[in-house]
Amino acid sequence: MTAKVLAPQSFYVNGRELAPQGRTLRELVDPADGHVLTTVPDGTAEDVDAAVRAAREALENGPWSRMSGRERSRILLRVAQLIRERADELAELESYNVGKPITLARYVDVETAIEQYEYWAAMAQGLDGATRKVPIPAFAYTVREPVGVVGAITPFNFPLILGSSKIGPALAAGCTVVHKPSDETPLSALFMARLFTEAGVPDGVVNVVPGTGPVVGEALLRHPGVDKIAFTGSSAIGRHIAGLAGQHLKPVTLELGGNGAHLVFADANLGQAVDAVIRAFVFNTGQFCMAGPRLLVERPVYDTVLGMLSEAVPAVPVGDPRNPATVVGPMAGERHLQKVESYLDLAGTDGGTFLVGGKRRAGDGFFVEPTVITDLPETSRVLTEEVFGPVLTVQAFDTEEEAVALANSTPYGLAAGLQTSSVTRAHRVAAQLRAGIVWVNDWAMLDPSMPFGGVGASGFGRENGPDVLEAYTRTKSVLISMAEPAAS
Ligand code: NAD
Repeated sequence: MTAKVLAPQSFYVNGRELAPQGRTLRELVDPADGHVLTTVPDGTAEDVDAAVRAAREALENGPWSRMSGRERSRILLRVAQLIRERADELAELESYNVGKPITLARYVDVETAIEQYEYWAAMAQGLDGATRKVPIPAFAYTVREPVGVVGAITPFNFPLILGSSKIGPALAAGCTVVHKPSDETPLSALFMARLFTEAGVPDGVVNVVPGTGPVVGEALLRHPGVDKIAFTGSSAIGRHIAGLAGQHLKPVTLELGGNGAHLVFADANLGQAVDAVIRAFVFNTGQFCMAGPRLLVERPVYDTVLGMLSEAVPAVPVGDPRNPATVVGPMAGERHLQKVESYLDLAGTDGGTFLVGGKRRAGDGFFVEPTVITDLPETSRVLTEEVFGPVLTVQAFDTEEEAVALANSTPYGLAAGLQTSSVTRAHRVAAQLRAGIVWVNDWAMLDPSMPFGGVGASGFGRENGPDVLEAYTRTKSVLISMAEPAAS
């Protein structure tokens, strides 16, 4: 795929593409220059109903949930293999749709999706129950059954990975899925839908209905045929979803926003620390829930770190997402650019100093300069809210206690990190940071076996890691009486 205009895409329900007739066609633009890439129809409540019916039928009468874990595992490995074969194409698709630098799309997004399906292929084989010794004459055991039809709702920023982190465990557990990708970035989900069929996933097991949150998302949440909701997105929508899931008594996992703190202690290797600090705030153009946009620096090295940032940040390659050397691409859409610009304006009003950047980049596309801001008051919303762009704020601290208090001072609790050469400090501070994941002397290492998720406004539930299968299965207890029948 190197064409700049892509074929129109449509829903994928019950193993087939549905004609978009009568639906509103949404134009998707390349964030690098604003030109129209393709169109995708916005789904309706009726489309959701058709998809949920297909998923229910596949769950209740199809082979998927009855197959052995080993058979499902073989098919999931085939999914991983097909992604590998189509890796360059999929990376380009993700790059055009989201504005991702191609190297990131290929070696993070696509590679992670491959690793995830390989991991879930292995986990599919381990779904066993237990026998229990009970003090009554009974043979007692537990079995784990698929939770049912899963409604997966994903955000715009990591479409492929966040789709696989839900669809992978759901399929491993024998569930069926209706996936609603972001209306802004649905292309890789529609590509994957076809790939599942090619890999041998039976019709109806994975259905994809793109469209808006208020129409497609809500229809999925309210549909009585959906047994579980797996949501990733903003904290505001997450709260709304938690309310609806409560009303409809659907179990829900919520992976929400973040505003991670990155602590640099004076004993850190500063060269390595500054590399990690930059990676943590420019990764995916700052559109990363687990970013580290709040830098806290121990006062003795504060000026040194600012000096290093003022040299290194302007040298980060920003530009054409298709250039393999590009590290920072455009924001994924105009609304994201406008949101970041509004926070840059606010930083100026709040008395912040722009050490680096601070503006939209002139020319086409939704580019913003990687930006470093100092001198903000602690109450500034630029510090307390999720900016979700390549913007770093810097504050100084004097003691470890103060650093931890500042790090834990927002409602969010997703990711945090620290740079130190002291192993005892690493353990001590990691234990106190209110976050679902803590990195020490690096940032953003992830593995399908390591759970991630939030506390507080960052949500609840975990993705990745073996425990996730709990969210996609339910346990049934069976007790078979061993009492001798009374003689008649
Ligand atoms: P968003 O909350 O606007 O949208 C997320 C998804 O929810 C989209 O598919 C959207 O269409 C859908 N949606 C919107 N309104 C809905 C409704 N009323 N009912 C049902 N669905 C609805 O988020 P976004 O702007 O796409 O993504 C950015 C946000 O996602 C950031 O806050 C980021 O931190 C968060 N995020 C979190 C994680 C994580 O793992 N915790 C990962 C990636 C992104």
